[in-house]
Formats: sequence, structure tokens, C-alpha cells
Amino acid sequence: ADILLGRRLAGFIRDVPDYPRPGVQFKDITPLLADPDAFSSLVELLASMCVRRGATRIAGLEARGFLLAAPVAVRAGLGFVPVRKAGKLPGPVLARGYELEYGTATIEIQQGAFGPGDRVVVVDDVLATGGTAEAAVELIRGTGAQVAGVAVLLELGFLLGRDRLKRSLDGDRVDAA
Ligand code: AMP
Repeated sequence: ADILLGRRLAGFIRDVPDYPRPGVQFKDITPLLADPDAFSSLVELLASMCVRRGATRIAGLEARGFLLAAPVAVRAGLGFVPVRKAGKLPGPVLARGYELEYGTATIEIQQGAFGPGDRVVVVDDVLATGGTAEAAVELIRGTGAQVAGVAVLLELGFLLGRDRLKRSLDGDRVDAA
């Protein structure tokens, strides 16, 4: 990524210790969203990553991923598809469960949102363990579409999400701003 821009954008992310649980350092992106120059630079950067991966569609992960993926899709001139938590999308849907640190979660897409011939880039705010992105990648691949990459604002490298994604993505296709 653009190192100088990445550093500038990092300055708009607030570290919140022990939120939402003790021991978690939460990355609060709201100051970045509130700054029009930073937000538009981020959208520009993520959109260029998606275009470079040859995307034909942008998938956003609920909820903060929506805030980035929707403007990125518009900027890149591509369609936006929401990947939602269970029960939010009118059917028929395709669902996939995955493990969380505490418990399990399920995400869904609408049937027909993707098909063979699509190259999808998954967009989210933070890549942590990679569990959420991995579930989205598997769900999208199950439709016959190809996942061209995963693009995030911020990667928590120590959680090794990128390594986890290598198992479901061919090669290293993770971009972090
Ligand atoms: P994971 O499945 O562990 O990669 O977690 C990714 C999802 O949880 C993303 O959708 C993030 O929005 C959120 N998330 C995980 N860890 C953090 C964190 N430290 N700060 C902000 N969001 C986080």
C-alpha cells in the first residue's frame, strides 16, 4: 500500500483499550469517517486495490465493512453486495457458520448475488483473526464466483488473519491500507 497515506490514515484511528471486552484493543474508525479528506483518500485507495485485483463486484461485511465497501464500490464503478448477519436478508439466502472467540456466528448472502464469472473483493474495516473474512470467502466461493482478494483498512498482524486466509484464497491476496 501507499506507506505515507497509510500512516496518515492510521492517525485517524483511535485505540480504545479493553473494549468491548477486557484485553481487546478496539480500533475505532469513526474519527476517520468524520474527516472528509481522510475518508475520501481511504475510499480512493481501497477502490484502486479492488480494481487492481480485477474485481467485478464488491462484498461488504456487516456492519463497519458496509461503511467502506459501499463508497468503494461506487468509486470503482462496481456493484455492492452486503454479507449480513443471520436473519437480516430476505431469502432465499446462503448461510455459513463460523467460530468466534466466544461462541459461533452465521453470515448470509442472497442467492444469485454472485455467480460463476464474478471476481469478488471482500471489503471490511479490520482484519483480526480472519475468521469473519474466511467465512465470507468460503460463502462466496460456494456460489462458483472467484474471490479476487480481501481489502481492509487495518490488519492486526499479530493475529495472523492473513495466514488463515491463505488457506481459502489462492496465494496472498490480502491488501491493507
Ligand atoms: P475477525 O473475524 O477476528 O478477523 O474479526 C473481524 C471482525 O471483527 C471485523 O468485522 C472487525 O470489524 C471486527 N474486529 C475484530 N477485532 C477488532 C478490533 N480490535 N477493533 C475493531 N474491530 C475489530
